[in-house]
Amino acid sequence: MLSDFVDMLFPRSCLTCSSLLEKNEEIICVQCRYALPKTNFHLEEDNELARKFWGRIPLKHAFAYLRFVKTGKVQVLLHHLKYYGKQEIGEMLGRWYGNDLKKSQLATQFDLILPVPLHPSKLEKRGYNQCDSIARGMAEGLSVAWDSGILVRQKANVSQTRKDRVERWENVANIFYITKPEKVKGKNILLIDDVITTGATLEACGLPLQNAGCQSLSIAGLAVAW
Ligand SMILES: [Zn+2]
Repeated sequence: MLSDFVDMLFPRSCLTCSSLLEKNEEIICVQCRYALPKTNFHLEEDNELARKFWGRIPLKHAFAYLRFVKTGKVQVLLHHLKYYGKQEIGEMLGRWYGNDLKKSQLATQFDLILPVPLHPSKLEKRGYNQCDSIARGMAEGLSVAWDSGILVRQKANVSQTRKDRVERWENVANIFYITKPEKVKGKNILLIDDVITTGATLEACGLPLQNAGCQSLSIAGLAVAW
């Protein structure tokens, strides 16, 4: 009843079309939810995202929830998630996606969900990693555990100016490392990113996970942009 009263005083509106939200709607209205540009990559094993990683790193599954289009609904949602502290957006979309994957019998494919860690200087500035909220939502939707303390990012890159090319690649490839290899060994890992473009970050994250002896590696993005 109190929420009815609050709604009357401060009507909530849809983030992507500004129409008034019904009581059972959160952040976006039902019309906008069903208009989201889903990739449905999880319905096709050799989808275009999976093909991007061929010859780079072996993946069990590769999928992404939405297509990122500049000036579209996904752009608005991600902008608010990344820059306006709206972590509930990541949780909501992650939960919806997790539910979709679960309905397609994919929940049993994963033992542990790991978010791609944010650069420490960005984390300090923003105060949160947007991938954590996506991972949290997906963990809930899939009923799979998640952990943000296992895969971590080095504090600062060693200065690259005086390095040759091979050393530079090693420097980039070693940005990510595993704090507790025993938690990864023998596990089917699902790595989560917000927007996948070239896939270079996911590839760099995958190396230490494979070195730590994970059983399989899969990746999921909230969106793809290319
Ligand atoms: Zn709407």
